[in-house]
Amino acid sequence: MYFPIIMLHYVLNDPHESIAKWSITPRKFIEMLDCIAEIGLQVTTFEEILEKKFSGRELGNKVVITFDDCPSSLFEFAIPELIKRDLKAVFYMPTAYIGQYNIWDVEQHGTIETPIMDELALKKLVELGMEVGSHSNHHIKLSAISEENAFEEINDSKELLEKIVGKRISSIAYPFGEIPNNFKVSLKRAGYQFGLSIYSPSQHQYSLRRIGIYQTDSRKSMLFKLSRSYHLLRGIGSPIKKLKELVMKKEY
Ligand SMILES: [Zn+2]
Repeated sequence: MYFPIIMLHYVLNDPHESIAKWSITPRKFIEMLDCIAEIGLQVTTFEEILEKKFSGRELGNKVVITFDDCPSSLFEFAIPELIKRDLKAVFYMPTAYIGQYNIWDVEQHGTIETPIMDELALKKLVELGMEVGSHSNHHIKLSAISEENAFEEINDSKELLEKIVGKRISSIAYPFGEIPNNFKVSLKRAGYQFGLSIYSPSQHQYSLRRIGIYQTDSRKSMLFKLSRSYHLLRGIGSPIKKLKELVMKKEY
């Protein structure tokens, strides 16, 4: 089973420099959606994959667009643009910060404060046919805490979201892409169907790889990232990160 899963955070014109590396402009977002249309990929969600029980072959021409952290600003451009094109996406919420701001980023990385969606906004997403998923409770590295604590993060956030949106939550995106210990058991126990990381050597329904699209991406690189060959390369980690590591070794 393979289909590209895109990871995005902010879609903003002129983002503050502290969040610029996690932002793409509306223009880049449109370019990305055009690339998806050009290569004939159909945009789907995990809910739809479960509901329609797509075969492996059907999944071969699908793509999922995901947004981490649920910044409220997505309602300004990205969400209206998706609606205009009749497309759906999945939004991952760190539930401890619903209706607040990106506290974890401000504390750890000194970024500016950006508002996070509140309960009404999450309900609105579901009304619009979008999917909401968990991004843990406190946006922490789930691999760095005990299995039991990670389970609480995974489980509590799911229960809270289900209460808010009134429907089953089927997927989680691990903060920082860090896969928790004994994740297969924990996710199954909590009742998830999908778990999303970033770089993941093995592909499992609970450790699906995602591709980041950044402002630095060109049309050409976006088309490459959406291809199957890129996915295979990612099996060995981030090709660019690996290259940088090699260079660093030489230097020191
Ligand atoms: Zn995040």
